[in-house]
Amino acid sequence: MNVADSEVVVSILKGAGYSPTEVINDAGLILINTCSIRDNAEQRIWGRLSALGHMKKKNRDLRIGIIGCMAERLKEKLLETDQLVDIVVGPDAYRELPLLVAEAEAGHRAVNVLLSREETYADISPVRMDKNGVSSFVSIMRGCNNMCAYCVVPYVRGAERSRNPESVIKEVNDLYQMGYREVTLLGQNVDSYNWKNGAAAIGFPELLSDVARLNPLMRVRFSTSHPKDISDELLHVISGHNNICRHIHLPAQSGSSRILKLMNREYSREWYLGRVNAIRTIIPECALSTDMITGFCTETDEDHKESLSLMELVEFDFAYMFKYSERPGTKAARKYSDDVPEDVKSERLSEMISLQNRLSARSKRHDVGKTFEVLIEGTSKRSEEFLSGRTSQNKVVVFPGENHSRGEYVKVTIERCTSATLIGKLA
Ligand code: SAH
Ligand code: SF4
Repeated sequence: MNVADSEVVVSILKGAGYSPTEVINDAGLILINTCSIRDNAEQRIWGRLSALGHMKKKNRDLRIGIIGCMAERLKEKLLETDQLVDIVVGPDAYRELPLLVAEAEAGHRAVNVLLSREETYADISPVRMDKNGVSSFVSIMRGCNNMCAYCVVPYVRGAERSRNPESVIKEVNDLYQMGYREVTLLGQNVDSYNWKNGAAAIGFPELLSDVARLNPLMRVRFSTSHPKDISDELLHVISGHNNICRHIHLPAQSGSSRILKLMNREYSREWYLGRVNAIRTIIPECALSTDMITGFCTETDEDHKESLSLMELVEFDFAYMFKYSERPGTKAARKYSDDVPEDVKSERLSEMISLQNRLSARSKRHDVGKTFEVLIEGTSKRSEEFLSGRTSQNKVVVFPGENHSRGEYVKVTIERCTSATLIGKLA
């Protein structure tokens, strides 16, 4: 999400005559795109800022800006920081950046953290900053209307808005022309994508199938699905298009219905498992990944065991796992006490991580002997002689592949695996 935002920001500033540099000492303006989801993400930014303070002492013309979620959440605190930050811009005000940067260059503090009900940056063509030139990201919506009790997103990124589907289609077409062969459609809850056009409305299943039909050589991924909203209609769209990847990121957060209720996720453990069953039935070869939070308010050992057992039952191929981090202003911060001690959170997290390592290893072992279509992304990090790419299920595959190059599809038979990678040979 943040990379996609940075690409919009670069595009806006390029339009105003600025150009990006990879050498930080050459920069006259440094913008830090920030995330507020967990406290440690914010702590890293404070660390970064103090390091930049030294650069600013040496170069009085250097301007420093904080953009994104932290700008929204901590405007005052940022402006107080030893006069270090010149520009503070929230996620819906990037169009104002050229003006605000000019103000900062003239020696004034420049701030805009107004959230919008409409802004989707639909007409802005992002400047791609990825390295491989094969995979790309396209935002299809902004903000979030859910109120998960732990989450700061609705406060810092505002209400949910869907982007005009025509602008999405155009952007994906342009990406194909530029040589990209994979696009991930991004939103906090893509299943609630909804574009109204007079009396008609376009939902996510329709948008996804429109994007998939553009070109069979363009792989389509999407993230994130919400378990309460993922519909059979969507699953049938995925199964009906070979170029929609067989991977769904379906964050469970917890395996305990009691905790899910406190989190305000609006589904139970049984509902979640029911959705997984539907996925397994309609798209049998689909990989599944999740986000999990350990140590949410009042979580007991029993609740924790239910999270572990949900992970075992589903056999996730991959998981992002986090310790609960209380975020000021959220429902959980206002109403519940962050009462699971830090050492218990850490213990539960490491238990969860070692379980997931076993599940991920098992999922890779299942692939040995099978043949997959792999989209080549480049050479392997370890050896120039090996190519690296991913399967539709989003697993990394390396293989010796002379005469092939990035952006091509090849069939690879898996011969063995490490903990992170499948290793194979051309079929
Ligand atoms: N919209 C997506 C995810 C957004 S944030 C969804 O609903 O799934 C990405 C992940 O960060 C979440 O899935 C959650 O697991 C984690 N997260 C969000 N707030 C958190 C908090 N306060 N503490 C710990 N993890 C959190
Ligand atoms: Fe946060 Fe929930 Fe919205 Fe995801 S769906 S961004 S977790 S409020």
